[in-house]
Amino acid sequence: MTTIPPLDLTQQYATIEAEVGTAVLDVLASGRYINGPQVEEFVQAFKAYVGSPECVACNSGTDALYLALRALEIGPGDEVITSPFTFIATAETISAVGATPVFVDIDPNTFNLDLDQIETAITERTKALMPVHLFGCPVDMTRLMAVAVAHRLPVIEDCAQATGATWQGQRVGSMGDFGCFSFFPSKNLGGCGDGGALTVRLPELAEAARIVREHGSRVKYYHESVGINSRLDTVQAAILQIKLRYLDRWNQGRTTVAERYHQLLAPIDEVICPSAPAGSTHVWNQYTLRLHQATGEERDRVRAALQAQGILTMVYYPLPLHHQPVYAELGYGPGSFPQAEQASQQVLSLPMFPELTPEQQERVVYGLKAAILAG
Ligand SMILES: *Cc1c(COP(=O)(O)O)cnc(C)c1O
Repeated sequence: MTTIPPLDLTQQYATIEAEVGTAVLDVLASGRYINGPQVEEFVQAFKAYVGSPECVACNSGTDALYLALRALEIGPGDEVITSPFTFIATAETISAVGATPVFVDIDPNTFNLDLDQIETAITERTKALMPVHLFGCPVDMTRLMAVAVAHRLPVIEDCAQATGATWQGQRVGSMGDFGCFSFFPSKNLGGCGDGGALTVRLPELAEAARIVREHGSRVKYYHESVGINSRLDTVQAAILQIKLRYLDRWNQGRTTVAERYHQLLAPIDEVICPSAPAGSTHVWNQYTLRLHQATGEERDRVRAALQAQGILTMVYYPLPLHHQPVYAELGYGPGSFPQAEQASQQVLSLPMFPELTPEQQERVVYGLKAAILAG
């Protein structure tokens, strides 16, 4: 019995091995390991891809979020509204600048922020909205931007899981003030190590992010603020430049895999499949379904039964952020965000990568059906 992994990066690499190998060896031979020409070439290509006037490369998606917050001069006493159902980095960067994350519950269908609840969370301390395009599913940016404009709030899009996704034909990261991208290997556009970028609408905010990124300096060795060091390595930029050219094809491959899952799963009443909202292109960083009658223990039992058959799944995310020990001090008790809490008990992310075969998908779904029936 072969194992079906949640993600397999080796097959994709095999298809571009020669190209990537040459590009990496060129960087190694050039000696320009920091800020080599490939970094600027990638920045130009990436901002054209996203459709944003500015792009700042950095070391990770986490740094991209942090730099956006710093560029807006958000700090102690300020609040930023975000989702409790996301990777920790989203809220963590808000805390890292000294501000307070204010959570709003999610929409059970998309797992993204519930746009009906944002306005009630806005106070005079609110300084930004930070929506997350979770699992590759775009937030309804028409409605989100309407709220942002009405309250004059900047928008920082967490695009880490959604590179290439679109809302009404526009790519995520081009509609808010900032788009924050991760090139962590498992993301839709992933490097061979860490990497990140922010797309920025206003040149002055891009410049502010660049200053923080470079130790708070505009002119080398003169420092006007406390910054950090965050760069995209030349080697990573060279690899990402190549991979960007394949991204749409790979996202299309993920879509094909998702559509096959939808069909195979349709007869299983215990499962609610994820779907792309009208007017959007979902890029399926994860195929996250919901076992809508299950408790957390039942979901975990199904997951373990799949694992026993060699089918490896993931739970993103088992504990919503408002119940993480790090945020206990914020005082959100049980029931604060019922949808996020229920999602964390019921979600299951199936194996998802463009090279997954129909036979493997059938094995996943039959295995899932058997695991559910065994309960
Ligand atoms: C991966 C991820 C990040 C952080 O990106 P890194 O490159 O790992 O720092 C931020 N937000 C979300 C939603 C992510 O999935």
